[in-house]
Amino acid sequence: MSETLLRTAQLSVRYGGVVANSGIDLTVGAGEIVGLIGPNGAGKTTFVDAVTGFTAATGEVTLEETRLDRLGPHRRRRAGLARTWQAGELFGDLTVEQNLAVALQRTGVRSLFTDILGRSAPPRDTIEAALELVGVPGSGARRPGELTLGQQKLVGVARALVGGSRVVLLDEPAAGLDTHESVEFGQHLRRVAASGIGVLLIDHDMQLVLDICARLYVLDFGVVIASGEPAVIREDPTVIAAYLGTAQPAGETE
Ligand code: ATP
Repeated sequence: MSETLLRTAQLSVRYGGVVANSGIDLTVGAGEIVGLIGPNGAGKTTFVDAVTGFTAATGEVTLEETRLDRLGPHRRRRAGLARTWQAGELFGDLTVEQNLAVALQRTGVRSLFTDILGRSAPPRDTIEAALELVGVPGSGARRPGELTLGQQKLVGVARALVGGSRVVLLDEPAAGLDTHESVEFGQHLRRVAASGIGVLLIDHDMQLVLDICARLYVLDFGVVIASGEPAVIREDPTVIAAYLGTAQPAGETE
């Protein structure tokens, strides 16, 4: 069992009458890729919002023994907990390096521009290390449009990693990739995790999730209905009913 980096205890979120997350206990270990799956509206993005401080929640969020749940999003980010956003495209007018530099900003448009102009820019090797880790080294001076879609997605992951993140929460990072690109993306994510980083992966691409995750949590109506290894989850009747559906074996008809 790897060292636990991220732990939530009884994490709950309510939006008016909707209980979007209910009592979620989840862990992500060092070097581990953990999947969070479930139907549309199950509460996956809400969970990422709650863990990273972008929505109000009750319960505990602990990163490497430090309680983060009373801190704002920027302080959680600096503590080493980072996320990507669903449809979180890169800024097309900025270089890859500038896209990563923006992620390191504390707050405010002013500091953003002074940093981009180079006055207090993060060290270039910090940025290059993140690009190297995701498998797109040397791409810092290029613009996103010059990269393949798969490379752009990897830069999106690098943007979460930059600055020494310990755990990254990736919200549908492979959306829009075809099967081949998605397999390649998964191999890069494996490398990221192998460096000791904890990864929480939300994705509807079940091939990707089943292939690269060590463990999965399944959400339905804000509640964890199952958790465990992919091989077990795939056969779980509750999960099949709520999310996976029944795969009809080839050649078999009703
Ligand atoms: P998807 O797979 O479609 O991205 P999801 O599992 O990420 O879905 P969430 O987006 O977390 O699900 O939504 C969980 C529930 O919370 C849904 O019922 C949604 O309508 C509701 N919800 C999400 N964000 C808000 C909000 N800001 N205000 C009110 N309700 C919200």
